[in-house]
Amino acid sequence: DLLLATAMADETGNQEEGIRPQRLDDYIGQKELKSVLHIAIQAAKGRNESLDHLLLYGPPGLGKTTMSLILATEMGVNCKITAAPALERPRDIMGILCSLKEGDILFIDEIHRMTRMTEELLYPAMEDYRLDITIGKGQTAKTRSIPLPKFTLVGATTRVGSLTSPLRDRFGLIQRLRFYETDELTLIVKRTADVLKVCVTEEGAEEIARRSRGTPRIANRLLKRVRDYCQVNKVESIDRKFAEEALEVFNVDPMGLDWTDRLVLKVMIEQFNGGPVGLEAVASATGEDAQTIEEVYEPYLLQIGYVHRTPRGRVATVAARKHLNYE
Ligand code: ATP
Repeated sequence: DLLLATAMADETGNQEEGIRPQRLDDYIGQKELKSVLHIAIQAAKGRNESLDHLLLYGPPGLGKTTMSLILATEMGVNCKITAAPALERPRDIMGILCSLKEGDILFIDEIHRMTRMTEELLYPAMEDYRLDITIGKGQTAKTRSIPLPKFTLVGATTRVGSLTSPLRDRFGLIQRLRFYETDELTLIVKRTADVLKVCVTEEGAEEIARRSRGTPRIANRLLKRVRDYCQVNKVESIDRKFAEEALEVFNVDPMGLDWTDRLVLKVMIEQFNGGPVGLEAVASATGEDAQTIEEVYEPYLLQIGYVHRTPRGRVATVAARKHLNYE
């Protein structure tokens, strides 16, 4: 049983890795980001230097981790992946920094959540490739500097505004990831279907793409759900009809909104007369966490024009009312 479980875990792990594009040319969409990074890679390679520190920001699931892994492959270096909540104590970041090799990439997710002490250790590390350690306390305290290899920090965040300016200023490249267009997501669905050995028609892939809220991670997740539905119903190939049918079953509507998206809009319309309403009020009325609404649900509702943000709070728009069949 244990062997089987390990084999299955390997299989899913490998599949996940297979789904991730490996090279810059395979990374679909984000044209501007790709051309900026293409230049940075060529220039750094030409000078035989490490890449400049890079800050990637944008909603979750748009491919920040994937891009970081691609940069490492393109530069021929290793990529270490961690997240700010795992770096609470200074010794956490010290350990990681000391384990890096020349040119390596250190990916820190949710970088806006770093503690002040950890952040202050990062300043000299990013700027002068130096780790400053203070030994002892008070008047007898001494600072020792340990040289670090020239590494590249890739920071990822959903809230670029929450970064302190000294940290933000130490990134040579600051790039935003945008929601994907339907044609780009269609390509991603078809690519993932190939990796998973699932048969999907062009229209089937497009239907899944349209309901993926501009987000590759959601596109891949929906494809897997539709695959399950087709398998159980003994359908060989995913066409538009089956994609539609399956996504209805999984409660994903034609705009890609799920149960929580619709609840957020309903609460705004029914309980707050369409707004303006504060984030906290929406959060308590829906039972969701305010930060989750702000970072996970709201960006797409803003993008498709179903919610507006005004100085007095959030407003549900006419388009949102129409979508939910309100007068
Ligand atoms: P988070 O911000 O939450 O860390 P993320 O932006 O790092 O998320 P990833 O984990 O990189 O998201 O991407 C999610 C999934 O979407 C991955 O499985 C990856 O295969 C796929 N993906 C992301 N971007 C692309 C792309 N441009 N082309 C093809 N597949 C992509």
